[in-house]
Amino acid sequence: FTCDLIRNFSIIAHIDHGKSTLADRLLELTGTIKKKEVGKNEQVLDKLKVERERGITVKAQTASMMHSFGGKQHVLNLIDTPGHVDFAWEVSRSLAACQGALLLVDASQGVQAQTISVFHIAQERGLKIIPVLNKIDLPAAQPERIAAQMQSTFGTDPTDIIQISAKTGRGVDQVLQAIVDRIPPPSGTTTGPLKAFLFDSMYDRYRGVISLVALQDGILKKGDRIASCHTKKKYEITDIGILNPEEIPVTSLHPGQVGYIACNMKESSEAHIGDTLYRVGAPVDPMPGFKPAKAMVYAGIFPIDTSDFPKLEESIKRLALTDRSVTIQRESSTALGQGCRLGFLGTLHMDDVSSSLFWVPYKIVYKDKEVYVSNPTEFPDAIDVSSKVKEVQEPVVKASIIVPEEYFGEMMDLCFTHRAEELEHKYLDAGTGTESRIMLTCVIPLSEIVTDFFDQLKSRSSGFASFDYEEAGYKPSNLAKVPSFPWYFFSMANLSMPLALVVHRSHEDAIGKLWVKKLVKVIPRQMFEVPIQAAVGKKIIARETLSAYRADVTAGLYGGHVERKMKASKEIGIDTLVLT
Ligand code: GDP
Ligand code: MG
Repeated sequence: FTCDLIRNFSIIAHIDHGKSTLADRLLELTGTIKKKEVGKNEQVLDKLKVERERGITVKAQTASMMHSFGGKQHVLNLIDTPGHVDFAWEVSRSLAACQGALLLVDASQGVQAQTISVFHIAQERGLKIIPVLNKIDLPAAQPERIAAQMQSTFGTDPTDIIQISAKTGRGVDQVLQAIVDRIPPPSGTTTGPLKAFLFDSMYDRYRGVISLVALQDGILKKGDRIASCHTKKKYEITDIGILNPEEIPVTSLHPGQVGYIACNMKESSEAHIGDTLYRVGAPVDPMPGFKPAKAMVYAGIFPIDTSDFPKLEESIKRLALTDRSVTIQRESSTALGQGCRLGFLGTLHMDDVSSSLFWVPYKIVYKDKEVYVSNPTEFPDAIDVSSKVKEVQEPVVKASIIVPEEYFGEMMDLCFTHRAEELEHKYLDAGTGTESRIMLTCVIPLSEIVTDFFDQLKSRSSGFASFDYEEAGYKPSNLAKVPSFPWYFFSMANLSMPLALVVHRSHEDAIGKLWVKKLVKVIPRQMFEVPIQAAVGKKIIARETLSAYRADVTAGLYGGHVERKMKASKEIGIDTLVLT
């Protein structure tokens, strides 16, 4: 192997623009996989079952292809990047293993928000970009118009654009040729001290964590003892190979090569994306720019029945074992007993849990120090001149939305009602009449987008808006704590709830009402009427009444647990539930 015959690249594309289909065509064209029978639509690189079940491509998958150009056998390593908006950081790291990228745009849809942000990451990293227009077979394809859009958005030279149909295979051979012609080979030496770049990882039930590495310098073999620059932990390589896309064991990996290693790493959280591995006893400087991923959204989860805690903890631990974007911590509450606090890298995992339960880290500025709190119970009860707290800051993101012009007003309104600031907009393609699309950018609190923002964005733009965001630090904010006490009832109703809520003052009323409405629906009815109120400080901001139950209804609703619950509610002797 020499580096000259290697190309490392990835595909940058918005969801549904055809990344997986193109990857499959490339694998077929190079003979890496057999051409599929007509009508069979299973995508090779999306094969992970978990992914299917969850319906999203979180796990990046990578494949090495062999192809002969000018009589010489080349190795083309396709490095797959996570496709989701929350993983900008990981995308950035996996791009660091590449020297080039295909910028794939759907010729009927045009440029979308996520494509732009990943493009900027790729450009900053100095990657060679190959612009590709896909789906030119579609009647709705407008290659000229979208090419002009790419020119104005990315500065693409229209003559560089390769027009393809990943579906029919048309033009895909040109893509293959361009990968070899336009993307520079990686550089590295076999004689230098071992330096391997960890750009992805996956979890295997039997072997533990499998890390994907791009070898910079040196030769990596089975039995080698390696260490992580970030954690300094030591490991021994038990398994090594390339992905084709199935694992193929090899005796060694050489500079420029991309492959997998198993090295008795037990938890996914040990594999830090962007970390550098070196040979034990021969430390190297880590690859620049590494910072460990940190959770940006938190949620507290408690079991309905406290005796279920071990089960809950076990299942959550299993999740964290295989999914490095989730971190867990034990938490205990006087009302709820033992529970767990989950940290997430972004908004992705929240889909199936009610979003008002989530919590972002706040920065509390005291007179003499700054403290970050990731748990509602640590948030100061009062923020005023008498307390030592000078100011509270919340995390904000820089958001960009791309939308057809006709939805511009709706999007502006959406942004305003979610406390957006520094709103700016520009036309992506000037002068094309009714089809014009606008890119709107703004600074918006993270807490605003972890709630219903994404759903509203989609519904208020008839699904046409695309959205992306990146972290943009902290900003002072007018926040209030709404302490909430009827935990017992939340937990009885099979809900997991935060221990308290922190809301922006402008949302106090709305959120109070929302919670009270929720509670009325989920709290088991009692023998008597129960008023449910929400309060901030001494001010009651919302109130509903839970009517008394009729025996027949309750039995149906709460099944076998009703006795236990009734008994419990008597024990704590409630006649009024107050959210204060
Ligand atoms: P990904 O989300 O970027 O991985 O997109 P996929 O590869 O899953 O493609 C999304 C959809 O577009 C699928 O239904 C594909 O069959 C379809 N598709 C991909 N490429 C083409 C193409 O060139 N022409 C047409 N007509 N459809 C395509
Ligand atoms: Mg895909």
